[in-house]
Amino acid sequence: MKQTLALIMTAILLSACTQEKQAKTPSPEDFNYVVDHFADIEILRYRVPDFESLSLQQKELIYYLSEAALWGRDILFDQNNKYNLSLRRTLEAVYTNYRGDRHSEEFAAFIRYLKQVWMGNGMHHHYSSDKFVPQFSPDFFAEAIRSTDPAFLPLAEGQSSEELISMLTPIVFDPAVFPKRVNQAEGSDLLLTSAENYYEHVTQAEAEAFYAAMKNPKDKTPPSYGLNSKLTKENGVLVEKTWKIGAMYDAALVKIVHYLELAASVAENDVQADVIRSLIDYYRTGDLRTYDAYSIKWVEDIHSSVDFVNGFTETYGDPLGIKASWESIVNFKNVEATKRTQVISSNAQWFEDNAPIPPAYRKEKVTGVSAKVITAAILAGDCYPSTPIGINLPNANWIRAAHGSKSVTIENITEAYDRASLNNGFAREFMWSDEEMQRSEKYGALTDNLHTDLHECLGHASGKLLPGVGKDDLKAYGSTIEEARADLFGLYYLADPKMIELGLLPDSEAYKAGYYKFMMNGLMTQLTRIQEGKDIEEAHMRNRQLIARWVYEQGAQENVVELKTKDAKTYVVINDYAKLRNLFGKLLYIIQEITSTGNYNEAQKIVEKYAVKVDPQLHHEVLQRYAQLKLAPYRGFVNPVYTLKKDKTGRISDVLISYDESYVEQNLRYSRDYSALPNFN
Ligand code: ZN
Repeated sequence: MKQTLALIMTAILLSACTQEKQAKTPSPEDFNYVVDHFADIEILRYRVPDFESLSLQQKELIYYLSEAALWGRDILFDQNNKYNLSLRRTLEAVYTNYRGDRHSEEFAAFIRYLKQVWMGNGMHHHYSSDKFVPQFSPDFFAEAIRSTDPAFLPLAEGQSSEELISMLTPIVFDPAVFPKRVNQAEGSDLLLTSAENYYEHVTQAEAEAFYAAMKNPKDKTPPSYGLNSKLTKENGVLVEKTWKIGAMYDAALVKIVHYLELAASVAENDVQADVIRSLIDYYRTGDLRTYDAYSIKWVEDIHSSVDFVNGFTETYGDPLGIKASWESIVNFKNVEATKRTQVISSNAQWFEDNAPIPPAYRKEKVTGVSAKVITAAILAGDCYPSTPIGINLPNANWIRAAHGSKSVTIENITEAYDRASLNNGFAREFMWSDEEMQRSEKYGALTDNLHTDLHECLGHASGKLLPGVGKDDLKAYGSTIEEARADLFGLYYLADPKMIELGLLPDSEAYKAGYYKFMMNGLMTQLTRIQEGKDIEEAHMRNRQLIARWVYEQGAQENVVELKTKDAKTYVVINDYAKLRNLFGKLLYIIQEITSTGNYNEAQKIVEKYAVKVDPQLHHEVLQRYAQLKLAPYRGFVNPVYTLKKDKTGRISDVLISYDESYVEQNLRYSRDYSALPNFN
């Protein structure tokens, strides 16, 4: 019966589609999340639920901000390496015009390499920053370029195809040329050994001295010196080439500003229009104090529904952490999910008063942090194709201290990750039985999100330090203990009847999905991210193992949690969920006590005993089982496509969203339609 209904529905939708290309966002069950798979990458698609129910003005605003976002793509390619634009354009010209055997193994390797270059926004891996190793030969590469009509190649004036081949061949094939985009290994000159394009002909010592001289220790509101420029030498003298209109990256920034102006004209309110205009001022002047003024306005605009990041923002791509890569995300508030965080925050005092910790360590007056949950509408620059699932900006410390920061969770991206993982074999491999799998399918995403909210909005904000105790008393163990505290707060309350009373969970079964996943991850599956023979170092991973190992050991006598073997494979089995909750509560008591009293010795003892060392046998087993699943360790995304719909008079009547573009189509289109910069900048 259901099938028939679905068929009829499809027929109706199809006839509607022929009239206009408007696909309503499908439900999660009917959405194809996985788009492509190559090398170590899986490409996903994300839904933009509720886009259709935004007002026309909000949709237009998102459209213009999205255009402003997409025009920054070439900036990032050039920032990552000065040859990236030439390389990408050459590869794309060959891909589009190649007349040889398009089914040969070498051409397949060529396509894989091109897809990697798109994923890395250049010739280096987005995560490891190592240069990609092509699986086709230099001869194939040269022949393919030779056979491409020079009119399609990114040739400089007077440059021949042969000269282009000579320029690019060592860059693509020689492992000694630009081996790493960001080198952070101590002992060598970090700038001379890094392939990024933030510095040229400049040594690390010169750059450090150059920026140290700008610092004024008396300035309470210091600009982020060097954030928006390339440092190079002209006639032996250090000069900054600022990224602004009329200077470096002019052609792209002109486009970005054009669309920002259109965005300002349809802003939701005057405050937001003013935020956008400040950003335009900054792009025009390149003045970092204007940037700070903009950042303050941006962080204080908490009422607009549509929001965005657009600019030179994060500094991970610079080995010295000074210069920022260009990125953009356009988003709007997820009203339902934000309600969830508001419900939690407005009940913060109840949670504090009922926490299983000594009254002396409780806050008399606690205010939950109100984080907002957003729906991403477009990802661009350094947020594309690889993207964060949460953002906390601005980065300037003095602005954060004086004006706060915006902390957001991007729930439609998390949804895509979760949904794409449902059927990839991971759960079937590591979960004990169908019961755990079904529970996870039904409640997994819900309890994941809720646990994150409890962790962020309440956990970190709860509890207090006794007089005389400092924030840094736990030193190197501080962040593991702090993350454990927030996680335990969330775990303890996930199983509380209050969750159902507040409408945050549907029933008393749901929390078990969260508990199982936490224990499986903490005891076993997070080890997939640790190399064999290594200890656990990262604070969040340490915290998870600390909690999981501690409750496992403490509950051993009563058999609360077991590691069972079936067909020579180890599984986590939870025998008593209620007792597990009590153990989480007990550990929260201990961890809160360590925090409140600043007890370094106890922190050291518990972390070293439970959080660091790995059972080598179990680790080996987990890695082997994981390897057999052949899952891609990294994921990227394609964006939806937005199109303006106009009525007979030419007025915009709607903005349509569609989800049918492939990874290759999208990247070729972006290179064709959003590419204003010259090959070299
Ligand atoms: Zn945390």
